[in-house]
Amino acid sequence: FKKPTEAALEGKVRWKEGEPVPYSALAQAFSEIQATTKRLEITEILTQLLVRVIRKSPDNLLQVVYLCINRLCPDYEGLELGIGEGLLVKAIAQSTGRPIAKIKKELELRGDLGLVALNSRQKQPTMFKSAALKVPTVFKQLKEIASVSGNKSQDKKIGIIMKLLASCQGEEPKFLIRSLEGKLRIGLAERSVLVALARSIVISKLGESIRRMDQASLAEKLEEGTEIVKSVFSELPSYDAVIPALLQGGVEGLRETCKLTPGVPLKPMLAKPTKAIAEVLDRFEGQPFTCEYKYDGERAQVHLLPNGRLAVFSRNSEDMSVKYPDLVEQIPRCITGEVRSFVLDAEATAWKPEQRDQDGKTVEAGRLLPFQELSRRKRKDVKAEDIKVRVKLFGFDLLYLNGRPLLHLPLVERRQLLRSSFLPVLDEFDFAKSEDCTSVEEIQNLLEASVSEGCEGLMVKMVQGPDSTYEPSRRSMNWLKLKKDYLAGTGDSLDLVVVGGYHGKGKRTKVYGAFLLACYDPENEVYQSVCKIGTGFTEQELESHHTTLSQLEVQNRKGYYDLGEAKPDVFFQPKVVWEVLAADLSLSPVYTAAKGLIDHRGVSLRFPRFIRIREDKRPEDATGPEQIESMYRSQAVSNGGKVKGSKDD
Ligand code: ATP
Repeated sequence: FKKPTEAALEGKVRWKEGEPVPYSALAQAFSEIQATTKRLEITEILTQLLVRVIRKSPDNLLQVVYLCINRLCPDYEGLELGIGEGLLVKAIAQSTGRPIAKIKKELELRGDLGLVALNSRQKQPTMFKSAALKVPTVFKQLKEIASVSGNKSQDKKIGIIMKLLASCQGEEPKFLIRSLEGKLRIGLAERSVLVALARSIVISKLGESIRRMDQASLAEKLEEGTEIVKSVFSELPSYDAVIPALLQGGVEGLRETCKLTPGVPLKPMLAKPTKAIAEVLDRFEGQPFTCEYKYDGERAQVHLLPNGRLAVFSRNSEDMSVKYPDLVEQIPRCITGEVRSFVLDAEATAWKPEQRDQDGKTVEAGRLLPFQELSRRKRKDVKAEDIKVRVKLFGFDLLYLNGRPLLHLPLVERRQLLRSSFLPVLDEFDFAKSEDCTSVEEIQNLLEASVSEGCEGLMVKMVQGPDSTYEPSRRSMNWLKLKKDYLAGTGDSLDLVVVGGYHGKGKRTKVYGAFLLACYDPENEVYQSVCKIGTGFTEQELESHHTTLSQLEVQNRKGYYDLGEAKPDVFFQPKVVWEVLAADLSLSPVYTAAKGLIDHRGVSLRFPRFIRIREDKRPEDATGPEQIESMYRSQAVSNGGKVKGSKDD
């Protein structure tokens, strides 16, 4: 990291201290970021912009950061961008006076609505120059667009977009439209934004003294600050909380002021897949580990706030309290008297309650039902009378208790606190079954038992010592998943986005006969093709996929689709995520997944098979190129180092 010069800190777009940040300053930075692929350069450009914002308009820092990550609020508040293509086309047409047909034609050619908007705006004769857009106005209007609902909401949205477009200058229309679409596509990952935020705060606090510092001490300070911000943010992933605290006290006091807080969901810890039981023993190398049942339901992070409010959050931080009113009602019955606040990590499962005869004798014990039973539930407006399937919660970790974050404690201690604070309640709550196995045979037996009780397999976790702390948002080597069905093959299933369809033939002419699937690369905000899938579907499934996907058909390949040589008959908006299993992975000249990570070719799935729809995953949560790379490599290792499959399937 180079010491920033005064000129660099001033930037090309200038504004007066105390005034709102011009949107053009942001657009300028976006444009420079887009022009490079070097991560260091990207962080540097953004850091310099943020230093300027902190110096001149600190009140706008939060909004600038949100615009950089293209969000409007924390995930659990549920306000999202991602306006449909049709509406944006209409707004561009009306605002620039070009016919819709022309805009569509150009979109077909360019594949990027942002560029089409830019071009349309440049072609438009301007009578007079309107006032320059400011960041707070853009942010407020984007929020307004995302939140209008009900009668005439389409017209209202178009009206706001038209007004914004009319005030756009230079490259602004491109970024504005891309923001509205939900993908900025400038190669700015949230990770880099967080690093730039930390650095800009450190630099701002150093003030003039930065000139006297040598490069090495500055680098050390920046590194230290970045580590603090990253670790605090993983506990409290809320810019609304972290940014004001940073502005006020810098990075030094951040660990004290910002801690895990009930009400703010943290990104869950994730597990690495394993392909063989022996791999588990190799990994833990004699250190104690525990094997827990891997329940097949939906991850539920349950928060009890000190004010008594209970909230249930999904794997990707959505508030699910409305989906599970029954769970919210059940939970108070399974906590002991001393518990005033907590964050519990658990799995919500579909459950068939215990059956009793007239004398109250148990005739059938309660049992787990397949995951599909849960996914039939609506996600919104669930009323008690709509609920047909009971839900039982299995708690496996406790992250916060009575005002105290527990993340840094070893798992044994967290588990003790979990067991002393919660109580099993028939058909409503229990602890995840576990056993501290030490041999392949013991693991094998527990795996069989878990599957016979309706689980997917086991989660194997480091149980003592510093490696057994809770690592939010990390796919950690300290948690391994062992899925019975997947022990052969790739070791794990993949969650892929349906981006294209192929028209059916013969009996299947009324439905799509096959689909193009893609993984998601968050770094570059693109979907990369990974396979064509046409087997494993029942006729009924094909019909239901057709009903869902035909509504998502778009005229052209989206600009953020990097699909290589794959040529489906139709494209879909990226909305639907499927879990898919494959026999193995091979290098492919056709598909683009993980391209450049292993070879100049991409990776594709051989013999892909549809397992289920993943309603709990957003397209951005789909399997990423790095996971595909690691699956591919681990397969090569277990083949004795041979990298096979240079042929495309
Ligand atoms: P990934 O992103 O790792 O693929 P996923 O959501 O697809 O995650 P799996 O790979 O099937 O899920 O495995 C991890 C999930 O298993 C957790 O997110 C959690 O919902 C579930 N689970 C069930 N039992 C446990 C347990 N005892 N400990 C941890 N997680 C468990």
